Amino acid sequence: MPRRCTVCDHPERNGIDDALVSGAPYRSVARRFGLSESAVYRHKTEHLPARLLKAREAEEVAQADDLLEQVRHLQTHALDILDRAEKTGDLRTALAAISQARGNLELLGKLAGELDERPVVNLNVSTEWLELRAVIVGALEPHPAAHRAVLKALKSASNG
Ligand SMILES: [Zn+2]
Repeated sequence: MPRRCTVCDHPERNGIDDALVSGAPYRSVARRFGLSESAVYRHKTEHLPARLLKAREAEEVAQADDLLEQVRHLQTHALDILDRAEKTGDLRTALAAISQARGNLELLGKLAGELDERPVVNLNVSTEWLELRAVIVGALEPHPAAHRAVLKALKSASNG
């Protein structure tokens, strides 16, 4: 068992960390919170960096999640437009919607790459990709030329 850190166990740990991060000398922090200088010094050098790193990672993941959510939202719109265009036989709009959807997929793919360490998110992206692919390809089956073009575009997008 590692020796317990009186700073990590301190009820005001967040306040102590904030003070240390903002550059307050560990001696004055120790005085302010009634801790030993050596404990604060050890905490600052051994525990604080890892904690800051974790906080930054959590923030980055949250931002990526937010972006992912927005792209998914756009994707829902693009697919809705594709669906409506398909029903009215408006092939030009359908193709524009597909092009938009493809751009969204590229973004989703990039985001998935950035979220490599989170298999659950990757799984969602992958499921979304497969569903979308099936929807696009299925919707274009009555239009052989567009069908071929989209299959080709999807293939090159997944290769690159
Ligand atoms: Zn500590």
